[in-house]
Amino acid sequence: MKKLILPLLIISATAFGQTKLRPSIDKKASEIETKVIEWRRDIHQNPELGNQEVRTAKKIADHLRSLGIEVTENVAVTGVVGVLKGGKPGPTVALRADMDALPVSERVDLPFKSTVTATYNGQQTGVMHACGHDTHVAILMGVAEILASMKDQLQGNVKFIFQPAEEGIYEPGVTSWGAKQMVEQGVMKDVDAIFGLHISSQTEVGKIGYRSGPAQAAVDNLEIIVHGTQAHGASPWSGVDPVVTASQILTGLQTILSRSVNVTQNPAVVTVGAIHGGIRHNIIPEKVEMIGTIRTFGEDQQDLVHRRITEIATNIAESAGARAEVNITKLYPSTVNDPDLTAKMVSTLEAAAGKENVRVNPPVTGAEDFSFYQREKPGLFIGLGGMKKGGDPTKTPSHHTPDFYIDESGFILGLRVMSYFVVDFMGMQK
Ligand SMILES: [Zn+2]
Ligand SMILES: [Zn+2]
Repeated sequence: MKKLILPLLIISATAFGQTKLRPSIDKKASEIETKVIEWRRDIHQNPELGNQEVRTAKKIADHLRSLGIEVTENVAVTGVVGVLKGGKPGPTVALRADMDALPVSERVDLPFKSTVTATYNGQQTGVMHACGHDTHVAILMGVAEILASMKDQLQGNVKFIFQPAEEGIYEPGVTSWGAKQMVEQGVMKDVDAIFGLHISSQTEVGKIGYRSGPAQAAVDNLEIIVHGTQAHGASPWSGVDPVVTASQILTGLQTILSRSVNVTQNPAVVTVGAIHGGIRHNIIPEKVEMIGTIRTFGEDQQDLVHRRITEIATNIAESAGARAEVNITKLYPSTVNDPDLTAKMVSTLEAAAGKENVRVNPPVTGAEDFSFYQREKPGLFIGLGGMKKGGDPTKTPSHHTPDFYIDESGFILGLRVMSYFVVDFMGMQK
């Protein structure tokens, strides 16, 4: 068998991928690295909250147009979509960057520190690129420049998706995400595969992390309302106590992860973060409300966990003569990297970063709205190192904090790997 595998691998390395373009990509990436860092600093200094990325979007659109890329603006509020037509027929490969900043006041002492302020949820706050989406925008603008310089040789088209509001829109009556909005506008219809990256403040520059299959959790909000019958605290037998029932439900929920979820496959989390009920020591209230968050990996597990929550809550309540109302609101789906696509692209990651710098990430219980694209077409989302070399991840400020910091020397790998994704995927279609 071994003898058969070796020639196949050699064929795949040459026939798969327009790998001959990699040296040109590397050269162009080095040439534009300084410019990409300048773009990033400008965007960092001028951060905009979700669905308000007007200045950022204009900067992107102007740049793409200057490269001869077809541009559509105001897609899903502030989104920008650029299409680069390759010189030869082939698939359409999408690359995605998110443009939004967060309501965080920057504390890092940088010449391009953000001093922007805004009103968010009625509160005055600083605005900061505290998740590094400024780096994603600058890198993708750079990738557009690299690929535009070799467009005649591209076997297919490249779609650049710059989306608003990855961190979500939580306005009264609205819960949505930029990626969901973009998908609703039809941006994925003609796409064959999509790639994206997220910078990481706690991963060393030069390193890439990925995970095949469910990589980041689905996030759902949980609300359980236990309806009882109000009574004097001195005579509980005259009512139905929702406090005791709620506490039994809370304990029952713990068995989902220990007894129902297959722990050899993917983790899951059910957290109740608040319990509200009652007003006085001697009044058994009429109802108790519990709210929490559910994190699951993949739709099968999500269905299982939701079903068990409902069964446990309603049946425990029924056994007490109470009634439980269970409301689960689906927010982000699980970020699932297509296993076939991921397997095919591992050699691309290794070619860009060096085999020793590519690692398989553990599952992450945080979410990413890239998942909405992956529900439409095969997609791969990777992590890119942004922590200075030799840094200690346990002492480095995490994302969404005022001290969040990214080492810009990691950008060049982002330019190279995203460009490699495109040319390698195009070559694989032969
Ligand atoms: Zn974030
Ligand atoms: Zn982010």
